[in-house]
Amino acid sequence: MKKNVLFWMMLLPMALGIVSCTDVTDNPAPVVVVDDKPFPYDADIDPSVRPGDNFYEYALGKWLHSSNPAPSLFKQISEQNKMLTDEMLTNCTAPVVAQLRSQADEMMMGDSRTFDLLAQRLQLLEQVTTGEQLFDAFGALQGWGYGTLFRLVPGVLVGRQTTNVFMAGSMTDEMKRAVRMKKQETLDSLVNVYCGYLAGFGFSQERIAQIAENARKIETLEMNAYIPGIEMLRHPMKAKRWAPEGEDNTERILGMMGVTNEDVTALRFVPSTQEVLQLLVLFSQADEDPEAIEAFRDYMIYNVIAQDAPFIPSIDQETTLPAMLKRALQNNRYYMYRLLTEYYGYDRIYKQQCNDILENMRQLFIQRLENLDWMSDATKAEARQKAEAMLFYVGYPEQWNDALTPTIDADFLLASVTQLRQNAREIILNMAGKPLEDIGWDLWASMAGFTTDNAFYLGTANSLVILPAEITKPRFDYDLSEATLYAFSTTFSHEFCHGFDASGSNYDAQGQKRDWWTPEDKQAFQAKQQIMVELYNQLEAYPGQPANGQKTLAENMADYGGVELALELYKQRLTQQGFQGAQFDEQIKKFFLSYAQIWKDENQFDVEYLQMLYELDTHSANHVRVNGMMRLQDEWYRLYDVKETDKLYLKPEDRVKIW
Ligand SMILES: [Zn+2]
Repeated sequence: MKKNVLFWMMLLPMALGIVSCTDVTDNPAPVVVVDDKPFPYDADIDPSVRPGDNFYEYALGKWLHSSNPAPSLFKQISEQNKMLTDEMLTNCTAPVVAQLRSQADEMMMGDSRTFDLLAQRLQLLEQVTTGEQLFDAFGALQGWGYGTLFRLVPGVLVGRQTTNVFMAGSMTDEMKRAVRMKKQETLDSLVNVYCGYLAGFGFSQERIAQIAENARKIETLEMNAYIPGIEMLRHPMKAKRWAPEGEDNTERILGMMGVTNEDVTALRFVPSTQEVLQLLVLFSQADEDPEAIEAFRDYMIYNVIAQDAPFIPSIDQETTLPAMLKRALQNNRYYMYRLLTEYYGYDRIYKQQCNDILENMRQLFIQRLENLDWMSDATKAEARQKAEAMLFYVGYPEQWNDALTPTIDADFLLASVTQLRQNAREIILNMAGKPLEDIGWDLWASMAGFTTDNAFYLGTANSLVILPAEITKPRFDYDLSEATLYAFSTTFSHEFCHGFDASGSNYDAQGQKRDWWTPEDKQAFQAKQQIMVELYNQLEAYPGQPANGQKTLAENMADYGGVELALELYKQRLTQQGFQGAQFDEQIKKFFLSYAQIWKDENQFDVEYLQMLYELDTHSANHVRVNGMMRLQDEWYRLYDVKETDKLYLKPEDRVKIW
């Protein structure tokens, strides 16, 4: 006898809410499998758009054209992280935070000691007139941990070798945003705001204007030299061994930063870009040119006030207590990462689940490798080795490194911040040259931060890092349909496949740059890449601008592998659960719709923003990421009845297959 659906529904309390029921009755009853978990993403569908013409707009149309759209996942996560950080800083009882908080409180109540110390430092800089004094002042600032013109950040070189990367100087978050987007206008106005604070220290308007002028000059050089952390990771080949020869001052500057010639020889130190080197050379030659001395002096004054004004409520009247603490603790990102993880709660970060999915992805990739008809056994063996050797760093370390917890014993805010800065500098200097396996998390957490909504793969380390925001609610939500989990886990497989994209495939299992491809396989691989380039050239980055398939190739390949692996895993999961026919199809549609949700973005209509991304970003525009990927999926054609007349249609033989 056929049991009614309600009966089966009563059997659905299992952990993941999706149950496959078989062999319970004596009759071969039809299998009824239900996904009873909420799926909120149907709500954004615009049925007036043909999925085959523009799947992005079909899946998100209602949201895209709403006059009052709900925040995207990106926005939700960024707001959630901001709130989390503020709450943690307000409530956390860790001794360092408690002490900083009470000192920040004192600042709010009018404690003048931070003001006095900052005034002293500014005065010291203001008195610089000779090259000798300029370098001494730079050395003093380095000693206090400022990193005004240059700073060291931890990095990895080819072959999983840890090092320090020499970067353009420290900057505020606001400035980083301007610099990352190369927005000269924003940069100029921030320079004016920061320099304006100098009035409170007795600088005349005329002098302030001069400082701002010089600061703008050098800050623009810094902007050209600046590579955000993640960018740096994507372009490891830009890092190369170099030390300017025969430049006394250069050696001196490096020495002030805590780097010796021996470090350079031992590759424990590398400059990150040509532009940083140019900046270094310019600075080292400054003592021969009075104008350059003034320019660098003024830049340092500006940089110090920009970094420290938020500690002084009488100067920066918009500052808040959490902002002061955040600025202070930014100097030790690892510690901040740890505090936020503990405060947020380990059980809310789906580390184990993500690890399991990733391991399944690795196995699936290896299986698929075996079945490839375009690759020889020799190349397959290398690829397999690489997949097996890839290190996964998910969410947070198994064990925190207590040695990275700072201690402070100063009795007012800026003195404590100085200790934190000095401490951070020590930590970074100590990381260089250590085996990656020992200090991987020390590096990643120092580079990226708990609140970074991202994941990354580093070819030189053959390592993959998934940060907490990727595997917590609202992005990774076990209360929603599993289809969303698998769709969102395309970000994991995306990173995994960076190991095998157009650039990642040049590195081997140990992160050494080595060509492990047979010439024939390489040729076949490149032919596939060329198809990928052409397919993306057919799409538009923004109205009137064809996408740049060559520039975005590596990312598009990672997207491709990402969707292939996650979708197949999800199909396996559905089959295992007993889904079939219409129910099975329904779940796959949910997967595709969820995939579009990942790339829902408030900036989709901001043509200026899209133009900027087109110029700077190696990723495709979000709508291209969705549409470009859908048209490669045979299943998508079937489920959405995509016809030859539809704009995104590709003939089956044109749907490139790589992995
Ligand atoms: Zn990527």
